[in-house]
Amino acid sequence: MTDFAATRAMFDLPEGVIYLDGNSLGPLPRNVAARVAQTIGAEWGQMLITGWNRAGWMDLPARVGDRIGRLIGAQPGTVTMGDTLSIKVYQALASALELRSDRRVILSDTGNFPSDLYMAEGLCRTLGAEYSLKTVAPEEINAHIDDSIAVLMLTEVDYRTGRKHDMAGLIAKAHAAGALVVWDLAHSAGAIPVDVTGADADFAVGCSYKYLNSGPGGPAFIYVAPRLAQQVRPALSGWLGHEAPFAFDLDYRPAPGIERMRVGTPAILQLAALDAALDVWDQVNMDDLRARSLELQEIFLSRVTAACPDLALASPREAEARGSQISFRHPHGYAIIQALIHDGVIGDFRAPDILRFGFTPLYLSPEDVARAADKLAAIMAEGRWDRPEFRARAKVT
Ligand SMILES: *Cc1c(COP(=O)(O)O)cnc(C)c1O
Repeated sequence: MTDFAATRAMFDLPEGVIYLDGNSLGPLPRNVAARVAQTIGAEWGQMLITGWNRAGWMDLPARVGDRIGRLIGAQPGTVTMGDTLSIKVYQALASALELRSDRRVILSDTGNFPSDLYMAEGLCRTLGAEYSLKTVAPEEINAHIDDSIAVLMLTEVDYRTGRKHDMAGLIAKAHAAGALVVWDLAHSAGAIPVDVTGADADFAVGCSYKYLNSGPGGPAFIYVAPRLAQQVRPALSGWLGHEAPFAFDLDYRPAPGIERMRVGTPAILQLAALDAALDVWDQVNMDDLRARSLELQEIFLSRVTAACPDLALASPREAEARGSQISFRHPHGYAIIQALIHDGVIGDFRAPDILRFGFTPLYLSPEDVARAADKLAAIMAEGRWDRPEFRARAKVT
């Protein structure tokens, strides 16, 4: 059994704060500062440029990629790190489209994260007028998979509602129709058990600063199925995805396997932070994590629905249909979240009316979650959100 008291002791959370926003920015693991200080002082400071070899910086994207791979069911050597998730979405999509070059349509859903849709639109514009992005409601995806679709591009867990797609089922349907699938695991990696190998995924991408706690702007990951990796032609053909970057050839030749999805110089300080942040997962069983997450969600959901009739549940009621978050709708959602943050419970708001709460068993206990629900209930009962300072919107919501 995973010892969640032990994992909680590995995080540095501010006194008196209950953090229900680890789905947006994971908190600081205690060992990160020392590791980054070591990378700065002993590596960058003392080794200077020799750190690329002596400190193993050049291999860090692959080494860290394997640690994330373990959490998503990927074989060693099939995941690499770098850039931001938006860039990795673009790379995966461009390569998938090229593998299915007789077709022109990308299918996605209206619950997808806007950046994924924007990247797809931009890619279509570059490729030419015959390419298009088609979006339908999440529940209608299954019915729209046919032999016109080149690539199905989905985020497994909806960032607003927490609704979870049936990954294996949709992959089977897409493959039967001759389409490839790109999965965005931004709200899955470190949140729920994922098995990209067992589900026969083609491409998967995700970020590390949400449930994997790498800190603001941490690098993204990309997985390519081993059966495709040697066929994939990178659209962003940077020198570190070249077979021999230090030959400085004038022609691009892709590196073997997943290495070709690297682009440019990796962000070593952020990778060092992520490498340290991943230590906690060495002692976590993903099935235990899922069971605990559902337990926390149920405590919150039952208390809030009983005490706050004005908050409409935006997430599926059925536990198995959710990822690791619960959302409610309210016309004054922004002000309610601000009042809650004022009371020491951090959740977040997503336009137009979503109050969003993430459940992260690594550092949240059942008592924390019950206390957070009670504070939300008190704010709603007393109408304490209805103050000008809670209504004033900040730049980042
Ligand atoms: C968080 C998130 C992103 C953010 O992309 P960045 O390029 O890292 O800013 C993209 N897609 C999804 C589905 C997300 O949840």
